[in-house]
Amino acid sequence: MSVQSTTPTQLIYLDANATTPVLPRIAQVVSHTMQEGFGNPSSSHITGVQAKHLMEQTRTKARQVIGAQSGKILFTSGATEGIQTAVVSALVAKREQANADSVLLYGATEHKAVPNTLIHWNNVLGLNAKVLAIPVDENGLLDTDFIAKHAPNALMICTMAVNNETGVYQDLAKIEQAIRQQNPHACWMVDCVQALGKQQLNISQTSIDYAPFSGHKLYAPKGIGFLYIRESSPYTPFIAGGGQESGMRSGTENLPGIAGLNELFTLLLDTELGVFHSSETLHGYRQQLIDALSDTFGELTFNHPLEGSVPTTLNFAVNELSSKEVMDLFDAASIRVSGGSACSSGAARSFVLDAMQKPSWQSENAIRLSFGPAATAQEIDLACERIRSLKAVLANNCLIAPEACHTQHDICAYGLTQFRHQHKLSWLYVSDNQQAVIINPQIAHVSRFEKIVKVQQLNVVAVLNTHDNEQQNAARHQVAQKLGLTDNVDTLGWPVDKTQLTLGNKQLIKLATAGISPEGQSYVLQENGVAELCFCGELMVWGGLGNTQHPHSDNEQMAASLILLNKELNSQTVLCPAYDYQQCFAMNWQSQVLSVPLLAELIDGSLSTAQFAEQKQAFDKEHLVQQGHLAGFIAHCEPCTINELSQSQLHNELHHSGIRLLDVREPYEHDARAVHQLFDVPAAQVVNIPLSRLANALCCGALPKNEHYILLCRTGNRSAQAAKNLRLLGYEHVFNLQGGLALV
Ligand code: PLP
Repeated sequence: MSVQSTTPTQLIYLDANATTPVLPRIAQVVSHTMQEGFGNPSSSHITGVQAKHLMEQTRTKARQVIGAQSGKILFTSGATEGIQTAVVSALVAKREQANADSVLLYGATEHKAVPNTLIHWNNVLGLNAKVLAIPVDENGLLDTDFIAKHAPNALMICTMAVNNETGVYQDLAKIEQAIRQQNPHACWMVDCVQALGKQQLNISQTSIDYAPFSGHKLYAPKGIGFLYIRESSPYTPFIAGGGQESGMRSGTENLPGIAGLNELFTLLLDTELGVFHSSETLHGYRQQLIDALSDTFGELTFNHPLEGSVPTTLNFAVNELSSKEVMDLFDAASIRVSGGSACSSGAARSFVLDAMQKPSWQSENAIRLSFGPAATAQEIDLACERIRSLKAVLANNCLIAPEACHTQHDICAYGLTQFRHQHKLSWLYVSDNQQAVIINPQIAHVSRFEKIVKVQQLNVVAVLNTHDNEQQNAARHQVAQKLGLTDNVDTLGWPVDKTQLTLGNKQLIKLATAGISPEGQSYVLQENGVAELCFCGELMVWGGLGNTQHPHSDNEQMAASLILLNKELNSQTVLCPAYDYQQCFAMNWQSQVLSVPLLAELIDGSLSTAQFAEQKQAFDKEHLVQQGHLAGFIAHCEPCTINELSQSQLHNELHHSGIRLLDVREPYEHDARAVHQLFDVPAAQVVNIPLSRLANALCCGALPKNEHYILLCRTGNRSAQAAKNLRLLGYEHVFNLQGGLALV
């Protein structure tokens, strides 16, 4: 049974901390200002006077919103410009004072705009102060003892009101005390971007020198923000020119943006309008979302204290699922969330959670879900409904435990499935009668294997390694133990009393393939003596040979192993190595031989074993260093060209007879949305073969070479990878849909 939720049409946007849509009322005012009230505030005619009036009125409202009776409000292009302005102002003023002990302090969980700006201007202005991160505790709160200790030497201290990844809010009064008791004159900037609209701000009751704000985080357009500057605090114009903003920031003002802020401030100030919700309502929304997530995914781990963070942010990890899996699934179901910080460069882990000393898996698998304070009850209900609709998809793809869902499960793991952790590959093979073998399991996949075996009621015959190393042995032991496999096996997991293992109507045999290490094994799955799969471990990487630079490696033994494999395998035998650097996913013996000249020459007899050994030694020395791969060199490095199909070319091609749409996303993404409806083609024209099952498709002939394929995925990246792989395998009629489903 394939569970496919109905094609979701309405976008569920839960990434408000990255940016928000412009509210219709604000968009209307912006549009009106662009078309009707478009004056230049510097013009002396009435249109200009009107523009200036709007600008000054907005400034007055800004003061009210942030509780600033005095000080200046400067319109900027956004918070990053506000931060530059504050840092330049402070550092220019403190330049004369700087000495060998001077420090610049910033919170370890600050948005990258802050430390990067400090570092940049510290260099450019030649202050040479030490730039120090203020540590945070496990709840994300700044260490005020650290602040007090370093404040006497601090020229500038940068902290934030609310964190963008976790929603954690700081105790500003406590921070202020730590700073001011030690140093009444240090410049203090508080990044208030994520606090506006979510927290009461009484800036005048504090000694904050600078506070940057950004419009696009709260329903105003991108390209507008403002900076609060305390009355007596130092100031240096960051942009010089025509003298606008009383010479504090030159350049014609962004009046439509300012008008947008004006309307935003009206909505914030007039609570009767009911656009922005109370903290109580927002807490209720967050609880609803937590309930929907827990009902759908099972156990969650929150990465921040819920009571110490604004109610509009939720940062969590789904226990046992990677953030990539959750993000891909959500994206396929038109639910937009973010992994870690959407504003950062897409790094795999979160520096914010690292600073909070969260365990690695939490930092790597963080999901941030955030909504704006003007979210409606209907929007939250719809979001919860959409999240819950994914439960059946998750259960059917073994991503949640069976007890979490009461539907009947098909066996989705029949045949060969690849599991990838960084460059390491594990393999699961399941026969028609549900007998299974797991090869080279990784620690990261232990619970996944446990779940699959349980949900799919597999009978695991063996958990095998192809080589003997500590990490690999530990993972094998863990999986075997969890699955209750306590049989008498050798160090690699092979049952000592068996010469071959039976998996349905196939046999798994083992071949001693030394080379990388003396005990290296390959496992070959045969049917009626014909080799279908070869788990070759470290001996080969796709498009290359394993690394024989280890102390126990032996190139002549490797040559003998490759010659042995050549005898046992046939051109179509699918190779299943232990490492993959090329994101290759599937390869057969024939393509492997064609890709690796050294291998081809060895098996056709043009190289003797000794010559092979000599050349291999030289190759490893040259290529391993060059490529930086630990497990082997890749011989075939020529870029393989693929046929890219633009979105406009797609529709012509689609109606060609015999062309198939090949969705290479994981089944849980495929199932979250009916792809054929999107393209208006019969369901039979769409095939879903995820990258993790490409080797299986190759093995069982699911992809005839004479057919034409358009490959697609979420953004066109994974499908480009698969297209390259198919080209290496000799497929000629393969196109990649540029931009993927994101641009359809
Ligand atoms: N500070 C914080 C806390 C933020 O969340 C962001 C944006 O994500 C910024 C600064 C930068 O804001 P802008 O995009 O307006 O430059």
